[in-house]
Amino acid sequence: MPISPSLTVVDHPLVQHKLSIMRERDTSTSKFRLLMREISLLLAYEATRELPLEPVELETPLERGRFPMLAGKKLCLVSILRAGNGFLDGMLDLVPSARVGHIGIYREPRTLQAVEYYLKLPEDLAERDVILVDPMLATGNSAVAAISRLVEMKARSIRFVCLVAAPEGIERVHRVFPQVAIVVAAIDRALNEHGYILPGLGDAGDRLFGTK
Ligand code: URA
Repeated sequence: MPISPSLTVVDHPLVQHKLSIMRERDTSTSKFRLLMREISLLLAYEATRELPLEPVELETPLERGRFPMLAGKKLCLVSILRAGNGFLDGMLDLVPSARVGHIGIYREPRTLQAVEYYLKLPEDLAERDVILVDPMLATGNSAVAAISRLVEMKARSIRFVCLVAAPEGIERVHRVFPQVAIVVAAIDRALNEHGYILPGLGDAGDRLFGTK
């Protein structure tokens, strides 16, 4: 459901059901990873809704006609490491020709500030529409740092896709980058003093990779 032109909450029952299972503390790592992949596909469906189409002449078994096909739009998925990687396989199932970039950012635990430690993006970003992915939009610091990089690299457009967002994170991203559309499955209540989303689902990276 579009809340505003730049904020869409994907309230589809399948997304909401799968997300609730992911929130459950006893959901296994393998189930969590599978659900993340499935939801990412559904979120990508929403995030690519405005891709332009063009009529293409082709022949069905019965007759010729002009039918809509994607108008050669160049896409790039950019994952914020490491939890963003949980979104890549599902999204690539949907848009297999997209390029993939990675931005490594960690949160300094005391200040919660974003520190970049890795960057690998396609060189032709100025000709690509970027879908930036990170399951958790918490303080917004990592998202703002990643978007700043993409703006610096002159990405043609930027959308940010996440699973769960805190109101503070949405507010921060839109204060700095009002032009960036956010697609999210749920907006939760608040952040705790460690920058975790409440009720949230815990540390998405740990739950995805079983590191805790
Ligand atoms: N990152 C996470 O993985 N979980 C949160 O709740 C906040 C940031």
